[in-house]
Amino acid sequence: MSKLGLYVHIPFCRQKCLYCDFSSYSGVEHLFTAYTTALCQQIADQGGKLYKPLVDTVYIGGGTPSVLPVPLLEQIVASLEDNFTIESGAEISMEANPGTVTRQQLAALKAAGINRLSFGVQSFNDDLLTGLGRIHQTADSLAVVEYAQAAGFNNISIDLMYGLPGQTAAGFFRELEQAAALHTAHISVYGLKLEEGTPLATAAEQGLLALPDEADEEAMYNAMSEFLPSQGLARYEISNFARPGFECRHNLKYWHYQPYLGLGAAAHSFLNRQRTGTVTGIKEYISRVTTGRSPVVMEETLTLGESMAEYIFLALRTTGGMRLSHFTRYFGVDFFDLFGNVFARLQRQGLLKADDERIWLTDTGMKFGNIVFRSFLPD
Ligand code: SF4
Repeated sequence: MSKLGLYVHIPFCRQKCLYCDFSSYSGVEHLFTAYTTALCQQIADQGGKLYKPLVDTVYIGGGTPSVLPVPLLEQIVASLEDNFTIESGAEISMEANPGTVTRQQLAALKAAGINRLSFGVQSFNDDLLTGLGRIHQTADSLAVVEYAQAAGFNNISIDLMYGLPGQTAAGFFRELEQAAALHTAHISVYGLKLEEGTPLATAAEQGLLALPDEADEEAMYNAMSEFLPSQGLARYEISNFARPGFECRHNLKYWHYQPYLGLGAAAHSFLNRQRTGTVTGIKEYISRVTTGRSPVVMEETLTLGESMAEYIFLALRTTGGMRLSHFTRYFGVDFFDLFGNVFARLQRQGLLKADDERIWLTDTGMKFGNIVFRSFLPD
């Protein structure tokens, strides 16, 4: 079996951003300690149940993990080390937001074993940040990256967003230049999605947002696709760019259909070809774990057709594409025997390419990935 990845969910944020529909809560600081205790209990339970399996990636995400006090984060990392066999050289990532960590806290996290940081910078334009309801400004982002570099982190990622209300293509290009000037090892760039029920989506429905038009959005997409690689940050997935050797090993597990275990509330796992998810409510999670009940509330077993479509969909997100021999090994059938016609159509449309070993999305295919992905779904 492949080595396991661990995802640890910290569902706390200082303040809810206006576009966010992730499972995260603000104003519940009184639950920090009880949540950490329950999380460490679940870590011990799962580590024991799986016989302390070998782990090569850990990803502490959220929410905003960096709002937890450092002693609690240290307790979580120590519990992971006690209950799983964490390989030497494992990638241990943590998400952190500008404005939530000091230089001293970052140094303590490094000493605790965190070796990769992912900062939710989102924008270098203070007006755009305010419009998103973020708690930080550009100066906080610049400071936090400098603190992390001074603390000895060499594996730092920053997240950026495009398609924001009030953002222009020229403005976004300047933001890309500012991002590259920080010389981080990794940059992720996501287009804004208006998730139903969020304040930003409601404002858009009421016609209150000046969103970039389609041509501007395309110009932003093209700018990131061309500019970041020119700065030594090669694209390795639709939204992710890295210097050589700094691709996120944990996220590659998702795209390569490898097993991972989710820990905490609202955490998903993929083990033995089955997807499961834990309860999203923090109090319910704490109650279940501390009274010996399972926090798992969702179990999903995909049909063979769904599983194949998902496998193809995830692998095609990466620029390496999908290896044909891996597909055959996983499903016991030849890709072209099943999907030869679909592939030929997408190839004619200029969306997919193939050689003897793999299939991959063309540049146009990356832009219109959804059309490709839908084509592989069962009827
Ligand atoms: S910091 Fe991230 S997880 Fe928290 S509310 Fe904002 S977008 Fe959501």
